[in-house]
Amino acid sequence: MNRDKALVVFSGGQDSTTCLFWAKKHFKKVVALSFVYGQKHVKEVDLAREIAAEAGVEWKSMDVSFIASLGKNSLTDTTIEMDEQRPEGGFPNTFVPGRNLFFLSIAAVFARENGIFDLVTGVSQTDFSGYPDCRDNFIKSLNVTLNLALDEQFVIHTPLMWIDKCQTWALADELGVLDLIREKTLTCYHGIVGDGCGHCPACKLRREGLHAYLQIKQEKEK
Ligand code: ZN
Repeated sequence: MNRDKALVVFSGGQDSTTCLFWAKKHFKKVVALSFVYGQKHVKEVDLAREIAAEAGVEWKSMDVSFIASLGKNSLTDTTIEMDEQRPEGGFPNTFVPGRNLFFLSIAAVFARENGIFDLVTGVSQTDFSGYPDCRDNFIKSLNVTLNLALDEQFVIHTPLMWIDKCQTWALADELGVLDLIREKTLTCYHGIVGDGCGHCPACKLRREGLHAYLQIKQEKEK
């Protein structure tokens, strides 16, 4: 089995872009797959294409917008105001039910057709939102399910699973792409590229992580 190719589930955000370059370091050939799922910020997909081109990897987008019609959430429904905080005992309304289940299942079938059995995703258990399909036990369980469903030996790689945003910036720096990720990726819930709007939960998390990392770096360089 060919294990020198990887498929990265690629949104064009900080996390999946870090994963894209991580994959480039560990695999000879990398394919980036972006999903159009009815997200408000469709420019995410254009940015993903541009970043993939800059990284020199093959890029493909796939329309899975049926996902948005299955459940209500503020990432796809323009009539819902986004939760700025995690409500007690629940998930923020930025939760798109089943998103990673669908993304990774579709990615696996697509990868298999292309002779790829290594999948890379930027999910992290340290994400403030605590989405259930970003957790390690879900990923491990899905990995087993995909192997049984397709009778293959997939490996789902999650380089960011146990690291926080500060460590994700450190990894980006180690991979030589800190500036690229800082300037070109979109994490902001309001669709502002780079440092973003500054006050949505995604921007806050990203900025706090960046500041923490830059401070550590500065201390080291003294
Ligand atoms: Zn923002």
